[in-house]
Amino acid sequence: MTWQAITQQGEGSVFLEYFLSEEQKTIKNLARRVAEERVLPVRAELDETEEFPWAIMKDLADADMFRVFVPEEFEGLGGGCLDLCLVTEELSRICGAIATCYAVNALGCYTLIEFGTEAQKRKYLPDIAAGRKLTAFALTEPTAGSDAGNIKTTAEKVEGGYVLNGTKQFITNGGEAEIYTVIALTDKARGARGASALIVEKGAEGFSFGKKEKKMGIRASATRELIFRNCFVPEENLIGKEGMGFLQAMKLFDRSRPGIGAQALGIAQGAMEAAVDYTQQRIQFGQPLISLPVVQDILGDMATHIEAARALIYAAARSIDGGVKRFTEESAMAKVFASDVAMKVTTDAVQICGGPGYMRDYPLEKMMRDAKITQIYEGSNQVLRNAIALELRKRKARTE
Ligand SMILES: Cc1cc2nc3c(=O)[nH]c(=O)nc-3n(C[C@H](O)[C@H](O)[C@H](O)COP(=O)(O)OP(=O)(O)OC[C@H]3O[C@@H](n4cnc5c(N)ncnc54)[C@H](O)[C@@H]3O)c2cc1C
Repeated sequence: MTWQAITQQGEGSVFLEYFLSEEQKTIKNLARRVAEERVLPVRAELDETEEFPWAIMKDLADADMFRVFVPEEFEGLGGGCLDLCLVTEELSRICGAIATCYAVNALGCYTLIEFGTEAQKRKYLPDIAAGRKLTAFALTEPTAGSDAGNIKTTAEKVEGGYVLNGTKQFITNGGEAEIYTVIALTDKARGARGASALIVEKGAEGFSFGKKEKKMGIRASATRELIFRNCFVPEENLIGKEGMGFLQAMKLFDRSRPGIGAQALGIAQGAMEAAVDYTQQRIQFGQPLISLPVVQDILGDMATHIEAARALIYAAARSIDGGVKRFTEESAMAKVFASDVAMKVTTDAVQICGGPGYMRDYPLEKMMRDAKITQIYEGSNQVLRNAIALELRKRKARTE
């Protein structure tokens, strides 16, 4: 038996009706087709070689997937948070790493879309929409992970622009992307309040890449250091106003976290489908494993948790797209819940598939490795739970 073959139960194992628009159904189906036809045959190999999936990026560009998150006036499809979640979920169902390489482009250009000038948008967005140029978003540094406000990279004002100095760490698409949104201090004395967002292009003098990280999961995605040594950035590359960079980054994460939830959701969905397949076919003690009550208990829990995650993510994404003013906690809840579900579902899926579940010939151990990062990046689940709890306290105080 090989798990390279997928069943067609994907849609059949979505229980609730989400009333997607015709356009959203089309986008979702297209993403599913690329994932099944193009990603599935190479996902194991890409995981082994850790090569950046350029051929798949081209397939995604040909299918107009990079247009989904770019406004129509800049050659995009003008989709919202839910549209991006649907693509990310479908790609992740087959491969969490490919989904990372794709979805981080939305992260890399969101600040530009939301706060950039018309000239900046005209210059960069059409290439991003066409998939001709990939993007990345660089906030994290050796001293600034969860404590993101503790960045040290500086952007000193000089005639006609800024001079960047510092090192960014763990940057997805680092080295592969052409366009980087970099958060740096234009006013060191003000700390996070003196941070600004700058567009830096690959090839700029003084901009180089450090080591490529060797990771547990999402191994086909590239994670690198960005090194800035007296790198000149022209002043027209400042996004929005000086001093707004940290705030822009926090707004970006509020919007992007449902997407991490969607990545986790897709991974969990893929793992459940593989587990159902295997436990139906595997005979022990004269019956398929799926006939055992203990296995049914686990599968029943998986399906319930996955559907709850999907409902929460889609609801959070719809709130964002519907224009609610503040969605920090809803967005964090979607990410926290779905990523915990993905970790539990993939671990249980490995368990009920026994030895084969543990083997690299089959996809489940990869799904378990890929799931882990969703609990860590874009705000670890611990930090996000803290933030949700603080908001509860604030809400209670307001009613007293
Ligand atoms: C594969 C990968 C890709 C990434 N891509 C990007 C990218 O594209 N751009 C970018 O800017 N960054 C990126 N990151 C960085 C990522 O967002 C950080 O790793 C993450 O925010 C955690 O920071 P840290 O690794 O420094 O851990 P730390 O902040 O050192 O935290 C370590 C542990 O301590 C816990 N902890 C820390 N503070 C608290 C607290 N106050 N309360 C409770 N628990 C706490 C955390 O939950 C965590 O479990 C990436 C990271 C990885 C691993």
